[in-house]
Amino acid sequence: MVPLLEVADPDIQVKINLSDRRLFPIWDRVQAGERLSSAEGVTLLDSDDLSGVGRMADFAKKRVTGDKVFFVLNRHVNPTNICVLSCKFCDFAKKPGDEDAYEMTIEEILDHVDDDINEIHIVGGHHPTWPFEYYVEMIRAIHEKNPKLQIKAFTASEIDYFDRRWKVTPEESLAILKEAGLQSMPGGGAEVFSTRVHRILLPGKANADRWGDIHKIAHRMGIPTNCTLLYGHIETFEERAEHLVRLRNIQDETGGFLAFIPLEYQVGTTRLRPRHTPAMDDLKMIATARLMLDNIKYIKSYWVMLGEATASIGLNFGANDLDGTIGKERIAHAALADSPAGRARERMVSSIRDARRIPVERDALYNEIKVYQ
Ligand code: SF4
Repeated sequence: MVPLLEVADPDIQVKINLSDRRLFPIWDRVQAGERLSSAEGVTLLDSDDLSGVGRMADFAKKRVTGDKVFFVLNRHVNPTNICVLSCKFCDFAKKPGDEDAYEMTIEEILDHVDDDINEIHIVGGHHPTWPFEYYVEMIRAIHEKNPKLQIKAFTASEIDYFDRRWKVTPEESLAILKEAGLQSMPGGGAEVFSTRVHRILLPGKANADRWGDIHKIAHRMGIPTNCTLLYGHIETFEERAEHLVRLRNIQDETGGFLAFIPLEYQVGTTRLRPRHTPAMDDLKMIATARLMLDNIKYIKSYWVMLGEATASIGLNFGANDLDGTIGKERIAHAALADSPAGRARERMVSSIRDARRIPVERDALYNEIKVYQ
């Protein structure tokens, strides 16, 4: 028995004119609430009928959360960019001694802990010498400074690294971190669940099985997590669709994923391809995720990577979450802001309204804080 999402509005009727005949049977299955196959996921990604794919995904989203689109006031903190690994898509990591390598002290991290945010999101490099205890101290210090702040920290790849480097198993590290104040985990580090891609781009990093095992452990311990897919580089549509199926299978087993975030590869200086994947691909990726991941309630249109314009359109392609990220807002809009949080909130609400959707401010665990009618 597949635990599909509860249908909030079973009476929604939508008439869609599809120009790609391959979508006809998929649309029948979507309306019937049936699960799509990996091959059907490939068809969606490959289709030229952008509007048809988007309208199907919008229908599927409306059945789950209506016209609501969620956002959170949060702050991203990356405590260090020093990393023992060298993933080929990564523009962020540096080696010790590099001119722009940095390490944050606990005091510097605490400077990011404001009273006006609901979530702090912490991920960083796999530091060669920082002991596991430093990470625990970091979480404990944040929690003590602001006990109401929800702490989302450390990818499965980092949890795996604590085990490899310091011999602290995921069960042990997550128990200790949870006791210190960690409430949830981000979904990064998944990249693409493909042995081929893993071998080429991220040798030495936790593989698909290990990533999945760590998330299952977290879910069993009452720590909800997100999940991701890094797309738009060397992966194939088949590998994307298989990745979604694997996430869906984990969710069937545990129900512990809060949200899925499609992460568009940023070309930067790594240049695995000459330019960003087109916006059409971004939108079909969001829509395909919504249609394939019938058991994950929230799909993000992640504006930090997509840009605000594409992210706003993504809210009509099956996404129902815009994330948040005040840190970025502080940089982009400091001159106009009364306060970073106030400006970020205003910006999120505007982007969602631009998409003709209802903005809903949430906390890190998707409890609704305020609906902006
Ligand atoms: S583990 Fe993370 S920080 Fe390190 S190289 Fe890979 S993507 Fe970059």
